Amino acid sequence: MNAQPRIALVTGAGRGIGRAIALRLARQSATVVVNDMAEAGASAAEAAAAISDTGGRASTALGDISKEEDVARVVDAVLAEYGRLDILVNNAGITRDQLLMRMSPDDWDRVLAVNLKGAFLCTRAALRPMVKQRSGRIVNIASVVGMIGNPGQANYAAAKGGLIALTKTCAKEVASRGITVNAIAPGFIDTEMTRRLPEQVKQEILKQVPLACFGAPEDVAGAVAFLASDDARYITGQVLRVDGGLVTA
Ligand code: NAP
Repeated sequence: MNAQPRIALVTGAGRGIGRAIALRLARQSATVVVNDMAEAGASAAEAAAAISDTGGRASTALGDISKEEDVARVVDAVLAEYGRLDILVNNAGITRDQLLMRMSPDDWDRVLAVNLKGAFLCTRAALRPMVKQRSGRIVNIASVVGMIGNPGQANYAAAKGGLIALTKTCAKEVASRGITVNAIAPGFIDTEMTRRLPEQVKQEILKQVPLACFGAPEDVAGAVAFLASDDARYITGQVLRVDGGLVTA
């Protein structure tokens, strides 16, 4: 990737897709800061230890990315320890599924707060050092649901659609500073988030996936590694689907 190790911050990296991204970036010689919710500190520490065990470099910075003060603390900790920030992966996300007519305003607010406002807060904080460095890579983990919608996920789809719009806008704002901003739209990936789905729903989804299987977290991690690499230096404001062919239009 790069001769000089780069510093990467991955939000929600204690498990699932974020953990796979953290491990993959570390394998490509980035030093990785693993963020997760404070209460789940054990999983962040475990992910960082898994990186160290394989010869990589990692540390943890716990905090709820939907809270401005936590985000400031996390990014300040990265800068205090490493003096720079090269890669931000806005991965942390949650679902609170319910048909729109029954969806509570609390479930709407929480999903928007984590999946969209969280990415905004992290991006804003990360841009400070990146603009000074005149370089940076931001990768937002959106979802195909933000492009095509999904019954029962009005809050999640709105947040992910918003995240795609945020990606495009931010890409235009900071391109002149040598910073690229892209999104990945995963389809259905085998993590705790999708393991919660009833078996019948999973079978229905699989019928619509040309590659006829769920993706693995590593499939998303590989795409992130590409967008964070020098090979992607001329790509910004784009949405890369990692969905087994689910969405082709
Ligand atoms: P997951 O297994 O549920 O993991 C989510 C991670 O985010 C957990 O480590 C969680 O920490 C962390 N997190 C949640 N809220 C947070 C907050 N406020 N601050 C910091 N960390 C927080 O989910 P996943 O499937 O890996 O999903 C990762 C991302 O991919 C999400 O943005 C999701 O929307 C997106 N995505 C997933 C799929 C899929 O099929 N799985 C498809 C499309 C997009 P805790 O352990 O504390 O909960």
